[in-house]
Amino acid sequence: YGLLLRQDPEMAEVLLAELERLRGGLQLIASENFASPAVLAALGSVLTDKYAEGYPGRRYYSGCEVVDRAERLAIDRARRLFGAEHVNVQPHSGTSANLAAYAALLRPGDVVLAMALPHGGHLTHGSRVNFSGRWFDVVAYGVRRDTETIDYDEVRDLALRHRPKMIICGATSYPRTIDFAAFRGIADEVGAWLLADVAHTVGLMAGGAVPSAVPYADVVTFTTHKALRGPRGGGIMCTEELAARIDRAVFPFTQGGPLMNAVAAKAVAFGEALRPEFADYTRRVVENARVLADALAAEGMRPVSGGTDNHLALVDLRGIAPSGAVAEQRCADAGITLNRNAIPYDPEPPTVTSGVRVGTPCVTTQGMGTEEMKEIASLVARTVRAPDAVGEVRERVRELATAYPAYPS
Ligand code: PLP
Repeated sequence: YGLLLRQDPEMAEVLLAELERLRGGLQLIASENFASPAVLAALGSVLTDKYAEGYPGRRYYSGCEVVDRAERLAIDRARRLFGAEHVNVQPHSGTSANLAAYAALLRPGDVVLAMALPHGGHLTHGSRVNFSGRWFDVVAYGVRRDTETIDYDEVRDLALRHRPKMIICGATSYPRTIDFAAFRGIADEVGAWLLADVAHTVGLMAGGAVPSAVPYADVVTFTTHKALRGPRGGGIMCTEELAARIDRAVFPFTQGGPLMNAVAAKAVAFGEALRPEFADYTRRVVENARVLADALAAEGMRPVSGGTDNHLALVDLRGIAPSGAVAEQRCADAGITLNRNAIPYDPEPPTVTSGVRVGTPCVTTQGMGTEEMKEIASLVARTVRAPDAVGEVRERVRELATAYPAYPS
């Protein structure tokens, strides 16, 4: 930060304040992680300067022979990591990847079957405030009231009734394993494309901690900045048969020049994820989440569906705190960053909610284990239950965060 500090102290101060914030608290947002210094180095590199519309060896600008190497590395590593036939590493985000997937497979007005937002789906899976809900005819499936898990019978019934052109599986706040084979069977029965949006779980998939969607889905969209621990960005995997359609849907249909610094940083992250230590990391993320969910349950904070199979838990706070929003604020005051989240069949509006979502990618990157998860559950419970405990909890949070520093210097 030395150079920035001299040239633009105002912005340098912002960056340092953010580092301070990360180092001084507990980050339990399930969709966040700490990118490695090597990923940050690639992001902050001269590759940001290069225009490279097109694909390696087929660019619309000259001087791309060096950045071509970066993109080829990213593609080769991702293909090895996931066993995918084709990978596009250019989407700027998970949303951009989904936009391109819709564009490649559908026409406006086509019927899509996807998970309802209040049951764990994403905005891009058919919300009315998003392109997906505005331009497509989206039918939503949800989770059962009793088990709070996906109702595959309902998915099949809706598919047979509405004959969607595409079915989307994958979610933003769903703590259980998704049965990709069951979705494939339903998609085949009605002749629909199957899109698996594994934005949240792709890192765990890379490390083998959750089952892969790649053998089942026609198209798999993902983000690189969550458990995968890469730069903020997206990607798409597909069969060889769909490769040209997907590539054209990214560029030139929905994007212009790729962010070559981000593409290089994705390659670095894929390289890190290919190492055995990363598989171990993903196993610990899931183990930590399970222990955290169980410990929260022991504190009277009910995990939706009874627990978790992945990196996150959704907690029902009814009877414990006035709302998810209040709990979020109380935790923030204590230095614990988590997000309010609707629970299935939530009686509260989305800005208020009855629950919070917690995730373990960040704290696991910091090296915390199951003992720390039990303590975090107790700190969350104390904060949420008794706002006057916030000061005391804040102190302990700071000690824990200092013992396991994010970005150790
Ligand atoms: N899809 C799912 C399932 C997600 O959870 C998210 C983000 O959380 C996205 C897509 C969108 O990713 P981005 O924020 O990079 O656009």
